[in-house]
Amino acid sequence: MSERRQVAWRETYLRPLDSDLLVAVLEEIQAAPGLSEQRLLRILRRHPLPDGALLSKSQLLDGYAQWCGQEEQTPDPELLRRLRVKPTRTISGVAPVSVLTEPHPCPGECIFCPDIETQPKSYLPDEPGAMRAADFAFDPFAQTAGRIAVMGELGHSVDKVELLILGGTWSCYPEDYQEWFVRRCLDAMNEAESSTLEEAQRLNETASHRNVGLVIETRPDHITPEEVRRLRWLGVTKVQLGVQSLDDAILRRNKRGHTVEATRNAMRLLRLGGFKIVVHWMPNLLGATPESDLADFRRLWDDAASLTALRPDELKIYPTALLENTELYTHWQRGEYTPYDEETLVSLLARCKPLIPPYCRVNRLMRDIPSPNIVEGVKKTNLRQIVQRRMKQEGSACRCIRCREVRGQEVDAEALRLDSLSYETDATREVFLNCVTPDDRLAGFLRLSLPRADSPVAEPPIGELAGCAVIREVHVYGPALELGDRQAGTAQHAGLGTRLIEEAKRIAREEGYERLAVIAAVGTRPYYRERGFEQGELYMSCRVGAA
Ligand code: SF4
Repeated sequence: MSERRQVAWRETYLRPLDSDLLVAVLEEIQAAPGLSEQRLLRILRRHPLPDGALLSKSQLLDGYAQWCGQEEQTPDPELLRRLRVKPTRTISGVAPVSVLTEPHPCPGECIFCPDIETQPKSYLPDEPGAMRAADFAFDPFAQTAGRIAVMGELGHSVDKVELLILGGTWSCYPEDYQEWFVRRCLDAMNEAESSTLEEAQRLNETASHRNVGLVIETRPDHITPEEVRRLRWLGVTKVQLGVQSLDDAILRRNKRGHTVEATRNAMRLLRLGGFKIVVHWMPNLLGATPESDLADFRRLWDDAASLTALRPDELKIYPTALLENTELYTHWQRGEYTPYDEETLVSLLARCKPLIPPYCRVNRLMRDIPSPNIVEGVKKTNLRQIVQRRMKQEGSACRCIRCREVRGQEVDAEALRLDSLSYETDATREVFLNCVTPDDRLAGFLRLSLPRADSPVAEPPIGELAGCAVIREVHVYGPALELGDRQAGTAQHAGLGTRLIEEAKRIAREEGYERLAVIAAVGTRPYYRERGFEQGELYMSCRVGAA
């Protein structure tokens, strides 16, 4: 972090507090059963700072940490849990750590994509993630260690880390850079140096910050069988794919440089490789209309023109942002492009969201672009809330994973129902096993892929998976608890993962598969070992059929 920003950060968060004031507030928080945001606000209003401002949770956390140090007290874990700054950040059970690769050219020429020399392609210097990365000179170790430290200081549990490597097109970076980058991120999680990637991966199995997911972003036309194998060797478990549109004419006008067929091939290979797939989809590209966008969105789930639709696991909706330094800006200046206004975009998204099936999670409805960069169009960062309000008014609802997660809600493991939803892709039959509370909230799920014998790809891209059913994801919700920490009533350690895996084994056996494989992140290997899986070359697997 630069010195200037360190000073600003310290002034904001580490201002010494009056200890009487601090203790009074903390005592009230400690005494409040089931502390809600409104209740916290009432407590803070009763104890304003001398200048009339209210304490922030960050200040409270930091003040509490300092007070514990001075008084030689052990911090109260329950109080720390209540003081978490952004509970939604770890509510999915895992702490997300985003890091950016160094600036590097991308072969893409997409007309909407900004090209700034000091940034990885498509990133702007004042985006929060890009600013953090630049503070650490894009160093993978420093970025990962810095993020883990800050999240830990703010009271988040950081024993399970999902590492998101961002920065244009990962597959275009030199292979030795990729290997070094992942190894150094793992070194930071391991708090230890390694000399090879394999060593760093092995150390992570018992590290204090386990890697439970590794995500990269790339272009569909860069996914080949070799790339799939290489991604797995690096430890990748999830791929973000820039799909943007399912219309070849729109892809051409926006100079994406690949076809819809390339997207289909990429998704087929990734799915057969057991990867989770996040699709980026962009409404309001050059040449699109709200009607064509809605039709395009429908094709994600049901596509009459192909055997089956793409049916991604997760979705990021990135309405096209009009930025300077792009070719799209020139089209706009010539009057050939008009960004949707708020009403048009909200109404479109309110019609899209109810179409999303329950097996998909919508991670974003808007990219985190600081509004001064947006020349014209919607600049609101709370678009999701606006869309949700609109849907409520219209009496529609979204059934996506994110809208149904239990979040911080108490879970009675005995009352959970195990549901199963099957759907076809052109390579697999997918079984989405989900644990649901009596009020229809999602406490956990498992994605099981059953490769189809009639798949257009005769062999899976990785020989090790021949004859295997594949677990692509196991996810149990609840605050990200420390490993081994069993908070009564939360979903994470109520044995849901084991229950889901046993059900997957049963289905794989009944469907005639000999083995069940899992795409295990390096930090989850011990978990699967305890459940009967053995380490293969790139996957873990166990026998489920007759010997
Ligand atoms: S592929 Fe992605 S990073 Fe490359 S130019 Fe297109 S949008 Fe930008």
